[in-house]
This record gives sequence, structure tokens and C-alpha cells, in this order.
Amino acid sequence: MKAFKWYATASAFALTLSLTVPVLAADVTIDDIVNDAKTTHDVVTNGLGTQGQRYSPLTTINKDNVQGLVPAWTISLGGEKMKGQETQPLVKDGVMYFTGSYSRAWAVDTKTGHEIWQYDHRLPEGILPCCDVINRGGSLIGNKFIFGTLDAKLVALDAKTGKVIWSKTIDDFKAGYSFSAAPLIVPTKAHGPLLLNGVSGGEFGVVGRVEARSVETGEIVWSRPVIEGHVGTLNGKPTTMTGTKNETWPGDLWKTGGGATWLGGTFDSETGLAYFGTGNPAPWNSHMRPGDNKWTCSRLAIDVETGEIKWGFQTTPNDGWDFDGVNEVVSFDADGKKLAATADRNGFFYVLDRTNGAFQGAWPFVEKITWAKEIGKDGRPVFNPENRPGNPKDSKDGKKGNSVFAVPSFLGGKNQMPMAYSPDTKLFYVPSNEWGMDIWNEPVAYKKGAAYLGAGFTIKPLFEDHIGSMKAIDPMTGKIVWQANNRAPLWGGVLTTAGGLVFYGTPEGEFKALDATSGKELYSFNTGSGIVGNPITWEENGEQFISVISGWGGAVPLWGGEVAKTVAHLNQGGMMWTFKLPKKMAAN
Ligand code: CA
Ligand code: CA
Repeated sequence: MKAFKWYATASAFALTLSLTVPVLAADVTIDDIVNDAKTTHDVVTNGLGTQGQRYSPLTTINKDNVQGLVPAWTISLGGEKMKGQETQPLVKDGVMYFTGSYSRAWAVDTKTGHEIWQYDHRLPEGILPCCDVINRGGSLIGNKFIFGTLDAKLVALDAKTGKVIWSKTIDDFKAGYSFSAAPLIVPTKAHGPLLLNGVSGGEFGVVGRVEARSVETGEIVWSRPVIEGHVGTLNGKPTTMTGTKNETWPGDLWKTGGGATWLGGTFDSETGLAYFGTGNPAPWNSHMRPGDNKWTCSRLAIDVETGEIKWGFQTTPNDGWDFDGVNEVVSFDADGKKLAATADRNGFFYVLDRTNGAFQGAWPFVEKITWAKEIGKDGRPVFNPENRPGNPKDSKDGKKGNSVFAVPSFLGGKNQMPMAYSPDTKLFYVPSNEWGMDIWNEPVAYKKGAAYLGAGFTIKPLFEDHIGSMKAIDPMTGKIVWQANNRAPLWGGVLTTAGGLVFYGTPEGEFKALDATSGKELYSFNTGSGIVGNPITWEENGEQFISVISGWGGAVPLWGGEVAKTVAHLNQGGMMWTFKLPKKMAAN
């Protein structure tokens, strides 16, 4: 009886709402996307702007009042499906859109946290995700919410209903392909808005590529393989070859060369270029592929009209440590120059001219780096040859090369968690990790759908009291202005605001706000599970909201070796949290 009464009340409430509030529906234009960084009433791109700065001009929540932040609502991702939640939500016209583990998606009322729809992608047996069943977010364009799946599909949902409008297969999941990054929507003159996607699967010898698709149909407009020797397409016809076949790759290894574009890209409307990073060369055993192995472990600037590579910059030539070069390229302006910065897995923070890729400088952002002495004036690493894992052929039985202890570990000085840039402090906020690894090479041959590494490894901490370290970096000097250490490895992204704040979460479950200038901790809230996702902020009806997803998982518990043991006690989860100030405090 009681339950019935509650139900009746809830229905009456819903009816009242539908009479007084316009129908909730996204209608996201390409201008909304291009202007996203400046508009505070919505978040319609991954990165709070296509340049990826993750900066908000909002000041309602600031250094003086952030300690009063309270939860506005939370929603569980529910079911038996937990695992890592690495997404960034989007917000438009009173609706929040986000993805979750196991290729799921939600639309939620931003006022109440109540679910509007949920989409559960039917995953086949035998998917091959390398690093947990995560998803890093979707894209809004027109009336669609579009995201990638663990069986290497793109699915466009009706933002109003969650019903499938179109679904396209990127590639064969049985060969190791999947897609978990947020697709990137860009404006073009020739084709209208295009959706850019990459591919995951570098540990299975896939070939990395960037594809541009019609947002209306999902059909491919152009494609650009990132490995030398492969040929791109435009409007269904072959265009140019990437690089020159066999220039930096021996034999046929380029055919299964890796370079997965698994973390997606950013876009700068001033240059018309999309910036995508590329993963490790396959296999990991570098002795099998003498040469630079272009364009693996690189950043590529791609003309979004044609799919041609405008410039490339390789961070780790002939990589032997799995230093994927996928980390985000964030555009910023300084000294009258159009620059971009990227914090590499290899432990160095790079600044490039984003118009032409010219190297400006690179500095270590983690301690005790062993694999390279420094980055030379030409932008190439000066290797420590004795820190390259040995060739198995040089061992007695040919089965295991010389093992070395290398820093950083293959999970990187920084990994998938995006940094932020504040034009106020002119600092980058880089979620970094201090760890190393024992690594050795073994013989390996390519086999479809099997791990193609030729390496073994064990990750180890470097310091007793911390692995994670949030670092504030001056991009003009490489100076680390402040750092805030964390016991567990950091695996979540950063948000910075004109309120002088830096927001991020920890695997221990704390959602933190630090003073952007000093690094002093001003706020910490226990979300109940580890945070490996990316916070956002927006304003609605005069109030500023901040959201972040909580749900421990990702690559660290799976691949962290001795570090994984130190985080084995952390509980899984799956809750989207939204915070605001009590009305009285916001007014003061
Ligand atoms: Ca916006
Ligand atoms: Ca890799």
C-alpha cells in the first residue's frame, strides 16, 4: 500500500514536470562544439573545448568557498557490472550524457540525477580489451550521442530516447580491435561536421589509424593509417601513402606495426588540425624492428579536410618500453606563439609549435628516468643504451634477453588521464606517477588475436610513501612549481577553473580541490570508490555544478605488478557524483 502511494506521487510529479518543462533533448550544433570552452552553460566536448584545456571560466565555486561543496545528487551505474569508470560526462539543456564500463551509456536529468534512458550494448563473446572494460566518453552532435564499444563499433543513439540511429563496425574485434576513446567531432568546409575515431589494440599488432565519418550516417569520408607504408583514403579512393615504405621499418613488420590511436584526439580550429597520438610499435621487442618505426609513439597533426598528415613528432623512436605516444596534445598560446603541450608516457613533458610541429623544449616531469639521459635540442631522446631490454638472441638459450630496471614503467609517467591548462596561472596540471619496471624481451611471432609483445615485466614503486603525484608545470621552463603526492597511482583526469582551483580524484576515492597557485589542498570528499574518470563543471540557473564519476579499475589493477598488490584492497564502484554549493554560500 505504501509503495503504491509512493508510485502514484512520483507519476503525478512526472506529469507536472512534463507540462511545465520543455522536452529534454540535445540539439548540439557544430558552433556549440567549436565554442565549448567559452560557454559555461554546457559541456559538449571531451576536454571542455576541442583544444583539451579542461579549463572553465566559472568563478562561483572558488578558493574561498570550495570547502562548502556538497553533493547535489548521485546515480549508480548499477547491476553486477562495475570495473573501471574512465568517462567524462557531457551536459546540454538539462541533460547529462555519459558512458560506463561494458560499453553502456546514460542520459540523466541534471537537476535530480534521475535516469532518462540507459543503453546496454550487447557485447559478443571473445572481445579483447587490453586494459579493463572501460569507456572514456561519448560525443554529442545534432540529436545524437555517439560512442565507441569494446567490440570495435561506433553507436549513434538518439539523445532523446537512447534508441540506436546507426551503428558501424570499425574493425574485427577478433583481431584485437576495440574502441574506448571519446570520438572527436570537428568542423570541415568540404564535408560538414565529421566524427574522428581511432582504434585500440596495439598489444595485438593492429595497425593504428584515424578515420573521419559522416555524423549523419557513420560512413567513412577519409582514413589515415599512421604506420609507414599504408595508404589513406578520401571519398572512397586511395590517396597518399603514410611515409615511405620500409624507410624506418624492416621487412614486413609494418604490416602489423601497432601505433594504436586509442586515446582519441584534440582539435584546434585556428590551425584546422586534429592532433592524435599513436601507441607503441608491435611487438614490444625492439630488436626485431631496428629503425625509428614511424609513426609509432608519435603525435600527428592531421588536416581534417583531407586526412593528410601535416606534421608528425615522434617522442620515442624504436620504442622498447611500451611508451605509447598517445597522451593528449593540449593547445595553448604563449609568447605570441601557437603552442601545444603533451606529457608523454616516457616521462618527458614536451612543448611544440602546433602550426608546424617544431620542437620548443622537453623536460622530465617524473623523477629518476633511466631510459634516456635527456631530450636533445632536436627533440630526439638521448638514449641510455644499457637501459634497453636485451635481445633474446644474445642470451644463452635464445629465450630471454637481459632484464633491465627502467623508469618510468610502461604504465608511464602519465597515462590515459588527461591534464589541464589554466590561462590564469599559465600552468599545466599533470597527473603523474613515479614507478619503474623490470622488463625483458622474449621471442614472439604475430598470430591474429593473440598478445603480440615479446616481453615480460613487473612494475615496482620508486618511493615508499607515494606513486601518484599531481604536478603543476610551467610550460615555458619545464619547472615543477608545486606537486601534491598521493599514495596510490593517479589514474583520473584534471579540471581547472578561473575560481583558482584544480579538481581531480584518487584511487582511494577522494575527490579533491587544490589551490591552483600553491597546490594546497582545500577540499576532499570520499566518493566511496576509486576515481579514474574526468571531472567537469557547468552552470545552470545561476548555480555552478561539478561532476565526476567514481569507480575503481582500469589498467593498474590488471597490469600493475607489485603496485597492483598495494591497491588490491580498493573497492570497485560506479557512481556519477554531482556537487554544488548550498545556495546561501554561493550568494556570499
Ligand atoms: Ca561549453
Ligand atoms: Ca601499449
